[in-house]
This record gives sequence, structure tokens and C-alpha cells, in this order.
Amino acid sequence: MEPEQPPLFEWSDTAPAPARPASTGRSASTGGSESTGGSESTGGTAHGLYAFRDSPQARRMLDVREVYAEPAALDSPRGQQIMARLPGVRVTEVDGHWRIPSLHGNDGNIARWVRIKTDTLVLGVKHSLSTRPNGRSADWIAPGPSNGCAMACAYCYVPRRKGFANPITLFTNIEAIVAHVQRHVRAQGPKPEPNQCDPEAWVYDIGENGDCSVDALVCDNTADLVAAFRRLPTAKASFATKFVNPDLLALDPQGRTRVRFSVMPADDARLLDIRTSPVPERIAAAADFLDAGYEVHFNLSPVVLRPGWERDWADLLRHLDDVLPARVKEQAAAEIIMLTHNQALHEVNLGWHPRAEDLLWQPEIQETKRSQNGALNVRYALETKQRALARLRELLAAHAPWLRIRYAF
Ligand code: SF4
Repeated sequence: MEPEQPPLFEWSDTAPAPARPASTGRSASTGGSESTGGSESTGGTAHGLYAFRDSPQARRMLDVREVYAEPAALDSPRGQQIMARLPGVRVTEVDGHWRIPSLHGNDGNIARWVRIKTDTLVLGVKHSLSTRPNGRSADWIAPGPSNGCAMACAYCYVPRRKGFANPITLFTNIEAIVAHVQRHVRAQGPKPEPNQCDPEAWVYDIGENGDCSVDALVCDNTADLVAAFRRLPTAKASFATKFVNPDLLALDPQGRTRVRFSVMPADDARLLDIRTSPVPERIAAAADFLDAGYEVHFNLSPVVLRPGWERDWADLLRHLDDVLPARVKEQAAAEIIMLTHNQALHEVNLGWHPRAEDLLWQPEIQETKRSQNGALNVRYALETKQRALARLRELLAAHAPWLRIRYAF
């Protein structure tokens, strides 16, 4: 297998696809409903949604051949909606979505790490709904609508506790997730004062453990959350993404959703950002997302230290400065996130993509920290990290002075 990032599509390939006619309700072929099972309306199909998710390009990302599902998830309206779009796909019922032995507990799956992300989907019910304070990227971390991802970034923290596979798990009780978030937002009242997350709105991260743009290829969870925040004037949804999904352009967020396109130098991305949309395409999509009603920020992340990193980040910042229109620059802000890694993931990666570990695992400049759950995490030693952050700030001031840094970590 060649793990280097193959382009999934050219951005030009994705430009206006013909809209599907609006749904009239139940589909004869599927017996399902095109619209969500009870949560807030997305208004989606009326805008010609889902033209992209039915395309061959989308299928290159996600071509589901196997579903593991909790019975309650299968029975739910969202579960039925998802399965209606997957006729003939084999379903294995499981007691719980978390740590399925034949999936997450099978070390033979390491060799199929990417394949499983492409062809396997897990459906579950999220039982514990809680919103956690954050204060860095967002004010709050909302209960996410998914866990796991069809992309395969070598540094991704999501699989750290998942074992030997990390396909998308979709949570089908989206109505409960949306209702929980709505209650939480209303309980806060207006934001009392500006902070680094946002000057006015409470910011809720809705994609902590997955990528909402890819989830939208197979279900309406992302659309439902975007629709919910449209009606919450004191709050804003926020998610980071490495995938350009043009279907999101039709969700009409009305400024209440912030999309954060993650960017890194092309040489790093080719080696580390496996299965993602190429970085230039994420950048090229920024203006379209802004014009469609999103706030568009950037994650400079992760910053990986290696010979030549300063030159390559300078090139990337110059590229942002060259290609982004003024209207994107005027509202843009960035997060800088230095690489962190993890020993268990290092060992998994050695089984499917050892070359990435040459870059990610550098004990001579990294220090270890045992997390609360006993995992051994690594990060750049404090002085190394501080020097790098100072240098990156200089590069930003020189090449993209318009790009305000919301936070650096
Ligand atoms: S896109 Fe995000 S969630 Fe998906 S593999 Fe990459 S880092 Fe992980």
C-alpha cells in the first residue's frame, strides 16, 4: 500500500454539480425519508443538497460495505435514514459501539487501517450527553455527533483509545444531542464579554472527535447541528475540517457556524494527511464557504518541526496571502497547534505507515507526559516549542499579517 496522500479530487471537479430534485417525502426505492427524523429541519433537499455525496469522488472517500450497529441505533429514524442509503450492505449487530472486539480489538486490522476507514461504518447511540468547558479553540466542547474518521491523518488523536481500527461511528440520537446543546446554550444567556474564542458568541466545538464534512457524506447530523445553531443567536458552532464537501455550501448557516480549514505545508501533508482534500483545495474553498454563510478560520496544525519547516510554513503563509480574497482575510483568524503524539498510536502507525513516524516520533526534542488515563503522550519540549511558536509568529507577521492568532498551543 502506498500511504502518501492521493488527491481525492480536484476542487474544479466539485464545482456546481446538478442539483437533485427536492424530495417529496418517502422514497419508493428505500422506504426511507430524505429529511431528518425529527430534529430541526436542514432545509437541505430544497437547496439541491447531496449532489456531491452521491458522486464518484465522494465514494472514493467513503464506500460503505459493512456496518456494525447497536439495535437501538438501527431502529432510530436517523439510523433508518442512513441504512436506506446503503441497500444490501452487511449489518452486524453489536452490544455497544465502543470497542467492538472484531473491529477495535483485532490487531490484524492494523494492516487494513485505511481500508476499514473507507468501507466500515459504526452506528451507535450516545448515552452520556455533556458539554465540557474548553476556553482555547471554543468556549465549550459539545457532545459530538460522531467519533472516528474516514480520513487517516497519521497524528490524529481520535484513535488513541480506540485500539486497532478507527472508522466513523455515527451517533443516531441526533435529536437528543441537538436538544442538549440548545438547552446548554439557553442556560448560558448572552456572552458577558469578548474572549479569544469569539467577541460575542459562545463557541461550541461540534467536531471534537471526527470530521463533520465527511460525516455529511453519509448522514444529516452535521446539517442538523448547523440548522440548530442558525436559531441560536448567542452561540456559534465550530468545527475543524480537512475535507472539502461542497454539499455543506447549501446548509445556510447564516454566520452561526465557523468552519476551520486545517492547513500545513504540502510536504508534510503528503506524508501525514492521508486521504484528506489537498491543502490548496481547502484554501481555495474558503471564499465559497464564506459566501455560503460560514465564518471561515484556519487551523495551522499540527506544526511539525523538521529541517526546513520554517521555509515551508513561510511558503504556505505566502500562498494564503496570495490566493485568499480580501473578504476572507478580513474575518479570518487562526489557531496554531503544535504536534502532540502518543506512544500507543506510534506503535499502531509503525504497522501501516512507518515513514510518518520518522517525522512524528522524535524523542530527542520531545518530552513525555502520562495522561490521566495512563496513556503516554509526547509533545515538543517546552523550550523547543516556545522557540518554534515565536518563530511562527514572526513568519505570520511577515507573510500574513492579516491573520489574527486566536490561540497557540
Ligand atoms: S481529519 Fe481530523 S479526525 Fe479525521 S483523521 Fe484527520 S485529524 Fe483525525
